[in-house]
Order: sequence, then C-alpha cells, then structure tokens
Amino acid sequence: MQSAHGGPRLLLRRLREVMAEPVSAQTRLDRIVVHIAANMVAEVCSVYVLRADQFLELYATEGLNREAVHLTTMGAEEGLVGLIAQTAESLALADAQQHPAFSYRPETGEEIYSSFLGVPILRGGNTLGVLVVQNKARRLYNDEEVEVLQTTAMLLAEMIASGELQSLAATGDGFATRRALSLTGTPITDGIGLGHAVLHEPRIIIKQIVAEDTKSELARLDVAIKAMRASIDKLVDQGDTSHGETRDILETFRMIAHDQGWLRRLREAVNTGLTAEAAVERVQNDARAKMQRQTDPYLRERLHDLDDLANRLLHELVGQSFIADHASLPDNAIIVARTMGPAALLDYDRSKLRGLVLEDGGALSHVAIVARSLGIPAVGNVGNIINLAEQGDPIIVDGSTGDVHVRPPADVENSYAEKARLRAKRQEQYRKLRDVPCLTRDGVAIDLHMNAGLVVDLPHMEETGAISIGLFRTEIQFMIAHRFPRMREQEVLYRAILDAVPDRAVTFRTLDIGSDKVLPYMDKVEEENPALGWRAIRIGLDRPALLRTQLRALLRASGGRDLKIMFPMIAAVEEFHAAKAIAEQEVAYLQRYGHSLPSDVQLGIMLEVPSLLWQLDEICAAVDFVSVGSNDLLQYLFAVDRDNSRVANRFDSLSAPPLRAFKLIADKARAANTPLTLCGEMGGQPLEAIVLIALGFRGLSMSPAAIGPVKAAILAMDLAETRHFVVELIERIDGGRSLREPLRAFAERQGIPLG
Ligand code: PEP
Ligand code: MG
Repeated sequence: MQSAHGGPRLLLRRLREVMAEPVSAQTRLDRIVVHIAANMVAEVCSVYVLRADQFLELYATEGLNREAVHLTTMGAEEGLVGLIAQTAESLALADAQQHPAFSYRPETGEEIYSSFLGVPILRGGNTLGVLVVQNKARRLYNDEEVEVLQTTAMLLAEMIASGELQSLAATGDGFATRRALSLTGTPITDGIGLGHAVLHEPRIIIKQIVAEDTKSELARLDVAIKAMRASIDKLVDQGDTSHGETRDILETFRMIAHDQGWLRRLREAVNTGLTAEAAVERVQNDARAKMQRQTDPYLRERLHDLDDLANRLLHELVGQSFIADHASLPDNAIIVARTMGPAALLDYDRSKLRGLVLEDGGALSHVAIVARSLGIPAVGNVGNIINLAEQGDPIIVDGSTGDVHVRPPADVENSYAEKARLRAKRQEQYRKLRDVPCLTRDGVAIDLHMNAGLVVDLPHMEETGAISIGLFRTEIQFMIAHRFPRMREQEVLYRAILDAVPDRAVTFRTLDIGSDKVLPYMDKVEEENPALGWRAIRIGLDRPALLRTQLRALLRASGGRDLKIMFPMIAAVEEFHAAKAIAEQEVAYLQRYGHSLPSDVQLGIMLEVPSLLWQLDEICAAVDFVSVGSNDLLQYLFAVDRDNSRVANRFDSLSAPPLRAFKLIADKARAANTPLTLCGEMGGQPLEAIVLIALGFRGLSMSPAAIGPVKAAILAMDLAETRHFVVELIERIDGGRSLREPLRAFAERQGIPLG
C-alpha cells in the first residue's frame, strides 16, 4: 500500500506557503490541489464547494478535466460527493464505481479511477464542501491519509468562510454558509425582534492553522488543558451555576476534561502539524458533525457537553474572554446562546436587547422567565443556531410563532419590519388606554393586576396601570441565585418591591419550587411524576425552616404596611391551616422581639388542585382570598402536562368542563364574600378573559404585556349579554369539546377586539 508522500507535516508546510503567496484565489486553489495530490500520491484531487442553492460546484481539480471546473455541479444528494456533503462523514472506497451512490459525470473523465477518498469540508459542524482524492489503482486509503485530508479540509474551510472564493462562483447565490435560513423553535416571549446576532459565547476565529513548531504547540495545549481543568474545578467547588449549567453538567465537564480518549485525539491532531487551537477545532468538527446526526437525546447532550468544553479550551488557548464583550454591544442585539443562566441575561444592557435565541431551553427554562420579564422576544430549542449564525449576522426573531430568520432576504425583512411597525402602533394604542377606567360597557368594574417576579418587572406597573401585583413569584429570586438566598437577602428584595410600588398592594406567593422549577443548588429528588410530587407548599410544610425563613423575611420587609401572602398548590384545607399556623408563629416571634409588624396580614391560597373544588365552602371560609392558578388547575383537571407539546393542546380551556369549574369557584367565592382573582396565563388572553369575567371573575392578574389587549376587550364587552351567552352555552352543551369557535364568533359579533 502506498502511503502519504512526505507526511502530513510537510504537506501542511507547503500549503501554508501557498496560502501566503500573493496570487489569485483560483490560482491558490489550483496549487493547493496539486500539492495535496502529490503528497498523497493520488492522481486526482478535487474541491467541491456547496452553494447556497444546495448544489456542489467543482472549484478546482488536479487530474480530472480542468474544463469542468465551475461547470460541473451536482445536487447535494447526488453521487458520492453528495453523500459526503449530506452525512458530513468521510468515505474511503477501493472500488468507487461499485458503490450504490456512485454517479458518473462524463465531462470530468473520472471513469478510469477506482479508489476514492472524500472528506467533508466542515466549519462549525456545517458542511461547506467536499475534498476528494482518487487513484486509478484499487487501494484502500489508510487512517493517516483520511486524517491528512481532513486536516487540509480545514484550510479550505477557512478559505471558503473568509469569502476569498466568493468571486469565483458560477452563480451569484453565494455559499452555503452565508445563505438565508429559516428556522423554527419553541416560542418563549411574544414579540418581533430585528437586529444583529451577538454570540453569547463568541466563536474563536482561528488565524493560524498550520503550526510552526509542533513541540511548542503540544506544550501550549497542555498548559491550556491544565488551566481549563482548574477553572472547571473552581466552578464545581463554588457550585457556580451562573452560566446556566447545573451541577450535573459541571461534573460531566470535569469528567470529559480528564477523558484520555479526547486528550489523545487532540494531541494526535497537533502531531499532524496543526496549531493547538486548530487541533481543538478539528476534533470539535468531528464531534459536531456526529452531534447533528445523533438522535438519541442522551448522547446528543454528551456531545453538546464536549462541544462546550472544546469552546472553553479554545478560549484558554487564544486568551479571549468566554463571554460576549458587553461594552461593544450593538444597539439592536439579538443574543444567540446555546444555553445561558438568567443572571447572564440580566447582565446585558436591556436597552440594546432586541431578541434572544437559544439552542437549548424552551419556555420553561429559567432564562426564559427572565426574558419574559424583560419583554424580550425570545425563541428556544432552535437546533444548531450557535453554529448557523455568525457574529453580526442580521437576524429576525418572531417570539409568537417561534420562527427565526438568519440572514433574511430583503422581502422577509421588509414584511417583518412592517409587522413590527404595526405591533408598535397597537402597543401605542394600548398605552393610551392606561388611564381609562377598566369598566365593561354596562359599567361593571374589573380589576387588572400584574404578575411579576423580578425587580425589572416593576416599571411595567406604571406603564400598564395595573392596580396591584396580583402574583409575585418569589421562587424566581431562588432560581437565579447560586445558593439559597439568606433571610436578609430575601427581605431586601421584598422591601425593594414594596418600596417601588408604595401605593399599591403586592401579593407574594411563597416559594413554588419542585416539578419544573428546580433550584440548581438543591439536591435533586428523583421522582417518577414531579408535577404530582414534592413541590410548592408540600416542600414548605415538610421543611418548615424554609417556609418560616421566607415568611419572616416577608413580615420584616412590610413593617407598617399591608401584606398579602398566598400559598401555592394547596390540596386540602388542613394544609392552609398548617401554613397559617407557621405564619402566626412568625408574627408572634417578631412581636416578641419588638419588630415593626405589617399593619395587616392577609393569607390566601392558590387554587390549583382540583380536590379543592369539593372543599370550596370550607376553603372560602378559612382564607382571606383565593387566586386561581389556572395553569396548574387545567393541567390537573385534564391530566395533561402543561408543557408537553405532544399533549398540551389536546383539550381546550374554553370547553364546558373547566368553564363549569370556574363558574362554580366564582359562585362559591361570591356567596362566601371571599375576594377572588385568577393569575394563570388564561386571564391574559382577551377571549378567555372575557369568558372568565362572564362566569363571575372580577379580578385577573396577568403578564404586563397582556394588560392592554385584555383591557381593550373588556371595554368593548357587555357583561350581561356575554354572561347570558356563556352560561347558557356551557349549561347546554354536551361533552368536553372546544367552545372556542362559538365564543370567538360571539365576541366578533359584539365587536370585542381579541388582540
Ligand atoms: C398557575 O399555575 O396558574 C400559576 C399562576 O402558577 P405558575 O404558573 O407559577 O405555576
Ligand atoms: Mg402554579
């Protein structure tokens, strides 16, 4: 068997010389293929580049008919070259013509070549082209030759990505890297954002691929690995999860950082003549290509971890900060991240953020909660976005549909710009409603409250004219912290909230954790059914110190003011009594030590568990107020996971079973004279809101952005007529099918705007 002539290092040195020559791009490419062919003792070496139109175009060849350059193109699914482009995997064949994917192109004159070795030209896990060598004699290329060709493909990847070859293309469409992409993910925050990509963890651009001195590159690699291990150890020891990694992920990082197989592959790559950073990228490219084909979620996750780790190593080697430079943030930044912690998002200058796109992390991730609070259009679960978008690329984020457009063509951009303008106009109209009293057409007052969970939410109070904070989700402070917030820290936050809205009430909900709301620093409890498991008040009652600390912080923060507290996930009246007893003990404790106490303490519950529907008389008599958590109540009523997209839309909240339940709750609360609100997402949708009002609700608490549209609907509704229609409908109808259509048609007839 023949082997590479002069070895990979000599080839790389030659190619480096060619890269430095002051010649045209085509000449450079022509010389590169000559060198590769000579070094690998191959009769043919050809470069195919993947164009934006998904055709592979022959860009240079040694051995095949040169006349075919820029004329031969093939579909990305055609032939062996197409197969490599598609799979991003190398292919070595002793008898290529026997391969089922072989397709013969007479203009190239390649019929006389038996052996074939092709490798993908990869960058960031994306295929930019294919590099091929061929021989007349039947032979199988060895591993070293495959490696050599893969390494030289990196040089070509840089040439393609640099735009140097752009002018040679047979069509004006450009390369696959720069093509417009339309991607879809999971909607997180409503709204449209147009701007430029800011990679939260900027990719390192490798300037030097070929090493001057392999020994010193190996030494650099060792130093960087040591430094990276030390920094990971530090993160694990400090339990620092501020970048969104859980402790499990950090532990996995630590494991991979010591994985001998990975380290060996890196060293081998340096030994072929690459710089340390090029070696990391080379190994990373393979992992990324594998990742994209991997369907097993666990293995995908591990490959992601490997990718993250390789990024860390690159940053160590190049000495660049791991996180985007906040000082040079453009005015219209769309943050693109694989994942990020909520605190990291808060570090960006809000006034410059136009959108957020996450590769991992859907609507429930902690960062999603912060994005929602900040009102930043956001989309999650967008596959491979961190590799598909380049720093500074134009991007459009549509948070209502989950669409993300990277490098959009002008017509897409124009239509979104128009949409954004219309939205802004509508927002302006809603703002004008701010000081209009919230009355139905027949004069019934409806209270609109706001949901909040962060200090950044508070300015919305003024903007929307909400009459109070109807739900303050205290767990968010816990979710963005690195460890349990101490009592004083909780007190400081609660006081800041109360001080920010001196003339309005705040209803604090005690810690609602468990199920989907995991605290990264709390030991994970493995449960078969977390949504039905140890969560919310169940944790509070089993770990009274946690609840007591929080209640103490709330009581201390509201000295001299009214305080409203509600307990989440109450399933039996006794649980409320037990929680109330803890609150009373805390009041007595503070009193004993002479603390200033709230002028009034009201204790209520969240009605989220269906069992309470049959304890309504008792619970209404026991509490100072009730707030319906419709997100959870509906999930339990239908036994449908609220966040499982496969089942979440199976049943409609606008159907007789839940609407009858809501009516029952409203009737009982009214009879008992117990103040009632609803604070789930349902109350923030105009059609749902008017139906709830028709059923007897007089207070709704919702996200700030929902207040304008809901108010506009209320102002246009006639309560008596709506009630008559809704009550008659839910009493008459059989079964549990959706009533959305008749309700929507009714609203339309009445001229009620539905947002
Ligand atoms: C609810 O369940 O409706 C609710 C408001 O609580 P959360 O969404 O925080 O569970
Ligand atoms: Mg809930």
